[in-house]
Amino acid sequence: MFRIGTGSDTHRLVEGRPLVLGGVNIVSDRGADGHSDADALVHAIADAILGALCEGDIGVHFPDKDPQWSGASSLELLSRVMWLVRERSLHVVNVDSTIVLETPRLRPYVDTMRANIAEILGVDPGCVSVKAKTGEGVDAVGQGLAVTAQAAVLMESN
Ligand code: MG
Repeated sequence: MFRIGTGSDTHRLVEGRPLVLGGVNIVSDRGADGHSDADALVHAIADAILGALCEGDIGVHFPDKDPQWSGASSLELLSRVMWLVRERSLHVVNVDSTIVLETPRLRPYVDTMRANIAEILGVDPGCVSVKAKTGEGVDAVGQGLAVTAQAAVLMESN
């Protein structure tokens, strides 16, 4: 049996916050606003997995009003989502994802993001695709006001 899911996430970019994507601290003069570490890529992947399970989204499982998740590493949230996957006797086949961020360029960080995510998902980094694009100066992302990410995940029964 296969299950497929998609996820997307957007965070506003503000001064005085770290920019964390795929569990990597990105050198940037602005970071993503949010309750946890605001890692839009990991949030999109977690939502894709929860979607494949028909288990709602990360807001249901990790409410932003719960102080337990204040400043939390999103990789920790993702590892908790993986408990649900394993409970269902499923495993991840592959992930494809895209980050849209105007600046800085993310290519130097992509392989570390893939390794971080693959480790949590229990797959080879060759099964985790992370693509990085800009917004071409168009809309809020293109104007550097936000970061957004999309993800798709395929899972299979053990
Ligand atoms: Mg988010």
